Parts: sequence; C-alpha cells; structure tokens
Amino acid sequence: MSYKLQVGEIKTTYMSDKDIWGHFNYIFSAKSKNSTTYKFVLMKSLIENLYNANGKLELHYDTIFYSFAKIYWNLVIHHGLNQINMVYKKAEVQTVLIGFQEKYQIPSSLVFDRLSEEIQVSIVKKVKQKCKINVMGAIYGDTQGTIYDFDNKSEIIRFNPSFYSFFQRYQRVLKYLSNYHLAVFLEKFNNAGDTQTLLTKVENVSKRSSLDSFYQILSSFFDGTCFYCEREIRKKEQLHVDHFIPWSFVQSDQLWNLVISCATCNLLKSDKLADKNYLEMLIDRNGVLVSNNAINNRVDMKYYTFDKLNQLYSYSYENGYTDIWVPKRKFG
Ligand SMILES: [Zn+2]
Repeated sequence: MSYKLQVGEIKTTYMSDKDIWGHFNYIFSAKSKNSTTYKFVLMKSLIENLYNANGKLELHYDTIFYSFAKIYWNLVIHHGLNQINMVYKKAEVQTVLIGFQEKYQIPSSLVFDRLSEEIQVSIVKKVKQKCKINVMGAIYGDTQGTIYDFDNKSEIIRFNPSFYSFFQRYQRVLKYLSNYHLAVFLEKFNNAGDTQTLLTKVENVSKRSSLDSFYQILSSFFDGTCFYCEREIRKKEQLHVDHFIPWSFVQSDQLWNLVISCATCNLLKSDKLADKNYLEMLIDRNGVLVSNNAINNRVDMKYYTFDKLNQLYSYSYENGYTDIWVPKRKFG
C-alpha cells in the first residue's frame, strides 16, 4: 500500500495537462481513500509553499509540515473540528495536537502563530514524524507516483516539473478545490454549520493573526513614506503591512512579498495586483533586503529570486487577478 512508502521516485517525467487533471480528479473523487482530512491539508500545504521551493523544485519537509501543523492546529484546536470520518475517534495528528494543548495548558482561542516559537517547533517536529509515514505516500500513490519524488530519510520532496508548472498555472482553482473538499468533509463529520460556514473557516485558516513581526523588520528600511503613493505616513495606525501579490492568491507571508503602505492604499488595493512599475520597485527593494546578511538568511528569504517574483506576478494575472490597481501618486 502506497501510504506506507518511505521513498518514492517520479515514474513519468513529462505529463500533459489532461493527464494531470485526471490525477486531480481522482484525488478529489470518492474513489480516493479519504478517511481523514490529511490529503486535503497536504494539498493546501503544497500550494502555500510553491514559491518556497528551491531551483531544483525541492521542498523540505520542515517547510511543508510547518504549514500542515499550522492548518491542523487552527482547525482542530482553534475551531474544534474533528478530522476523521468516525464520530468517536480522532485522527492521529489531532491526538498529537490535543496532547500539546493539554501539556502546555494552551487556550483554544490561540491560533498557531500566537504560540511560542519553541512550542511551534516541537509541534511541527511531532506532526512531521506522524505524517512522514501516513501522508507523503498517499498523494504519491493517488497520482501513481507522478507528482513528486519523496524521501523520508532526507525529508525532501522534488516536484515533477510538469506538475509544478500545472500548480502555478491553476493555483487558484486548485486552492478552491482543496478548500471546498476539505469543507465538505468537515461538514459531514462535525456539527459545526453548513459548507459555506466551514468554507469561510477553511479559506482563512492559514491567515496570520498579525503581521507585526514583519513590520519590525521592514521598519528598519522604512523611509517614512508609503510604498505605493509615496505620501508621508505620520501616525502609526496609518501604517499597514501589505501583501504585494494578494494574500488571497499566495496564502502565505513572505518578507519579499510584503511592503509598508498607508492605510488608504492598502484598503484601495485590497485584492488586486498593483501596476507592473511597482513590481520593478519591489524587486529593487528586495535587492536591498538580500544585501543584508541577517535578512538574507531568513527561511522565507532563502529561496527568493527576482525571477520567482516575476513569475508569481505573471501567474497571478493568469489565474484571474486581471484587475490592475494604480495608486494615486503624490507626485503624479
Ligand atoms: Zn499610500
């Protein structure tokens, strides 16, 4: 059975979009074995980390399972949702998280990013150990060994380039599919409202409670003006941290995609892409960030390249972010 596999090699390199759709249709169909929400959450974790892969399209388990643990914590502890298709049982990862909550007396109101770094690290480690055995082989098996290589010893996956390109081109629809199927599963095995209510929870489950930690870093490079309109920002409450590529698309927070803007620009830009001139400005700004050693060594900066940001911008447009926003500049 593939879910107990320890190593998996990619069996076919080139695949057409039609072949890949076939695999996704299978993953999301009743034919695929889904007694827990693991596969849907792994899919969400992969999508969140597409742009954290290195040049060889490799992703480390620590990165994948940071997202996985965060999503699971927020679903299980924060929202109190059962993750298995049996009423009186719990999914293994669920039990792990409840164990942490009890041991450290953590109130359910706390979302994952509010936990201390030390606790976060231990949770990710434990979740990774559990999932290595049960989860990595499952999606691999569903796609007949075509989606990625994985190795539980080196704890690395490497995307099949065809799949990776597919993920980039259909990122938005794949995210919808994963969220929708996750919400439907949760509705079936919880008494927590209808699909729509659960879908809203699922769509926001990865959202950070605050971007303050990013503000702390960005503020040391801050010249006192908004990234977009260049107006001076006088009051602290007018300072916003904005996702240049909208959060609704990337679903993750990386320093290279965050800028300080005024409240007005942040609200007006909302879910839109900014004009391409600002992409160039952000690439220049990121050039300054990476020249700082301490920043360049951050996990979220490690695999940043301007080429990646360029690609992300184009793929956002291709995925339907076609409403381009132009700020009202101070200097016209
Ligand atoms: Zn502004």
